[in-house]
Amino acid sequence: MPMACRSPTSWWMASGRCATATWSSQMRPHFRPVARPRARRFGTGSKPRAISRPCRAAERPGPRPLPGKAPRHRRCHQEGFALTIDRRRFLTSTGTALVAGAMTGQHAWSQQSAPATGEDFVIETVTGPLDPAEVDWALAHEHLHGDFSGSNPRMWRSLPEGEEEPVYGDLDWTVVTGAAINAVNEVKAYGVNLIVDYSPSGVGRNSRMLREVSRRTGVAIVAASGLYRTAWGIPAELADYDSDQLAAHFVRELTQGTEGTSIRAGFIKLSVGNDGPLPHDEVVYRGAARASNETGSTIGIHAIMPDAFRAAARILEDEQLDFSRFIWAHAGRDGTVDFEVFREFADRGVYISFDGVTHRGTPTDEQLLDLIGQFLEADLGHRILISADATIAAHPPAAQYASDIRYPYRFFKPQLEERHGGEVARMILRDNVVQAYRRGDRIG
Ligand SMILES: [Zn+2]
Repeated sequence: MPMACRSPTSWWMASGRCATATWSSQMRPHFRPVARPRARRFGTGSKPRAISRPCRAAERPGPRPLPGKAPRHRRCHQEGFALTIDRRRFLTSTGTALVAGAMTGQHAWSQQSAPATGEDFVIETVTGPLDPAEVDWALAHEHLHGDFSGSNPRMWRSLPEGEEEPVYGDLDWTVVTGAAINAVNEVKAYGVNLIVDYSPSGVGRNSRMLREVSRRTGVAIVAASGLYRTAWGIPAELADYDSDQLAAHFVRELTQGTEGTSIRAGFIKLSVGNDGPLPHDEVVYRGAARASNETGSTIGIHAIMPDAFRAAARILEDEQLDFSRFIWAHAGRDGTVDFEVFREFADRGVYISFDGVTHRGTPTDEQLLDLIGQFLEADLGHRILISADATIAAHPPAAQYASDIRYPYRFFKPQLEERHGGEVARMILRDNVVQAYRRGDRIG
């Protein structure tokens, strides 16, 4: 593998050498050597397993393949036909060679037929629009970097006495980039090739860094527009914006680019505190809803308490937000396991994101598997998202918390497959993510 260094605290440099950093004790757990689960990805037996994979390619301009991947075949087959291919070859070949090799020539191919799975959209990533047919597995809510020193560094009760106050963005980006590359390569080993990054500007987004990580790993990354909440790092230049000014700012980030680049954000991140929205939060929410209405982009809101989520949702509803473009992030993180609490919103089209899936996560794996069963019974399985909500490199280091970005694939997916089957696992861990974060249909 290119970009693999022997030491877990090293990363591959453009110069072709491995660089090494000294990590704080809080960060180290993320970078312990792990046995790469190649067997899981490629199958353990000598006989390759056959998988059924429908052709999803649609004729449309724009979407690019993942970095380092050849574009998949652009034609789509007749509706209802599923292409059965060799799993090992599927995972190791480039798309064009794969489809050409797997086709026998005995099927009639049509230039006009619609994609079999209805994925007639793109995902806006930091390297450009992505055809969802390229996505194998996805993580719906992670943070490759988080900077929590934006507005009030003293809020960190764990900031050691006498330690210099951190300054937002004043850190060694080589270290952050290296840490992110290592972490992304670890989940790539499980087949993940799409990650949604949930840090908007004000809490650490660096679009150039995300693009660099994507280019170095070949894993697609979606960046966040939007803002965290009032008490947590609203960038000074946006602090006095009214809702319409914020809406225009978010639309610019979604349609033109972020941070003075042409790197577009792919969705809008918001946040509500446990006690509900503060007055300025409402200004931000209304701006976000207007931006979503204008672009069709998705809003994902950090909301740990159901009542806080409900209060925030009411404001967005007042702006006529399309709830099918709305995600409740951190659902169940307060310990709620009452399905009816989630059903109230899933019934209205909202995606329910259980993104605390990690060691000693909330809800527990067992509780979440039960909840998923209830969603499936209610025919709402297509509204579930799963992720770990890891922050790979936090600033200041005292803000680092323990969460394992590998957990959803290393530990949860096998349980999910055993309990609810492989089709459900694929729907939740792949199909739902690409649907939830598809680019707004009013963005060209
Ligand atoms: Zn998060």
